Amino acid sequence: MSKNNLDYIKENVRQLLQELPPGVELVAAAKQQPPDKIMAAIEAGVKIIGENYIQEAAAAFEVIGHQVSWSFIGHLQKNKAKKAIEIFDIIETVDSRELSQELNKRCSALNKLIPVLIEVNSGREPQKFGVWPEKVEGLAREIIGHPHLRLYGLMTMGPFEGNPEEARPYFRETKQLYDYLKSLNLPGAEIKILSMGMTNSYRVAIEEGANRVRIGTKIFGPRD
Ligand SMILES: *Cc1c(COP(=O)(O)O)cnc(C)c1O
Repeated sequence: MSKNNLDYIKENVRQLLQELPPGVELVAAAKQQPPDKIMAAIEAGVKIIGENYIQEAAAAFEVIGHQVSWSFIGHLQKNKAKKAIEIFDIIETVDSRELSQELNKRCSALNKLIPVLIEVNSGREPQKFGVWPEKVEGLAREIIGHPHLRLYGLMTMGPFEGNPEEARPYFRETKQLYDYLKSLNLPGAEIKILSMGMTNSYRVAIEEGANRVRIGTKIFGPRD
C-alpha cells in the first residue's frame, strides 16, 4: 500500500507553525499547487492561502471554498479586479491609484468592503511591481478616500538575493514606513498587517517586524 505522500506537507506546516512567534500569521503561498496539496496544508493548520493568479485561485477556491481565508499576493491587473474581489478576503498588492479606484468601483457594485495592503517596492527596482517607498503615503491617502477599501498595511517582496541578510535593510525600511503610516492615524485605515518574508527570508523579516509571512517552497517543496 502506498503511503499518502502529502504527509511531508503536513509535517512542514506543523514545524513552521511551531516556529513562528505568536502574532505572526502564516500565508501558504500556493501558486502552482493543486487543491489536494493545498488541502493537506489546511489539514495541518494553515488558515490563509496566498494566490498569485486569478484563474488558478478560482479553481482552488471552487474546491476549497471559505474554510480558509484567501489572500491575493500576485500582480493584479485592473481587468481582473472584479473576479479578485469575488474570491479574495484581502488584496496584498495594491500598487496604483487606478487599481484602487477599480477595486473600489467593483466592491461598490457588490456592496462589499475589501481589506487591502499597499505593495511597496522596497528595493526601488524599476522592473518590479509595487510603489516606491516615497509614494506610499500618497497612495494610502487615495485609498482611504475609497469607502469600499480598508487599508490594513503594507506588503513587500524585497530584492531577491541568495543571502537573506541582504534583504534586511529593505525589511527594516518597510517597517519604518509601516510605523509612520500607523502614526498618521488615517481616518478609516486600520494599519495592522506588515507582510514580508518568504521561504529564504522569513526569519530575517520577522526579526525586522513582519507579522505576516508568505511561504511556499518550505511548505510544498520546490516549484517546477
Ligand atoms: C511565491 C511567492 C511567495 C513564496 O515564495 P517561496 O520562496 O516559495 O516561499 C511569497 N510571496 C509572493 C508574492 C510569491 O509570489
